[in-house]
Amino acid sequence: MAATKPQKVWNKGVVGEPKPPRAVETTARCTTTGCGAQPGGARRHPGWVLIEVVGSTEPKRYFCSWDCAAYGSALAELRVGDTR
Ligand SMILES: [Zn+2]
Repeated sequence: MAATKPQKVWNKGVVGEPKPPRAVETTARCTTTGCGAQPGGARRHPGWVLIEVVGSTEPKRYFCSWDCAAYGSALAELRVGDTR
């Protein structure tokens, strides 16, 4: 499919397939054991991030990195006041 003129202008004449966007790590894709799990038990992870959003239906969760924590935080914030 040929690019339209406005697309070419916006794209500064670059042709070919676009590069895939930077991978965003999520709890679904993170392979770290225990990432996104609820805290509890004796296992503690120094340097991990605890996310708790007041009023969210999502429980507190531990994440292995700020990337994962950002994902968890966004998810929890989406579920504030969600009573379903
Ligand atoms: Zn993670």
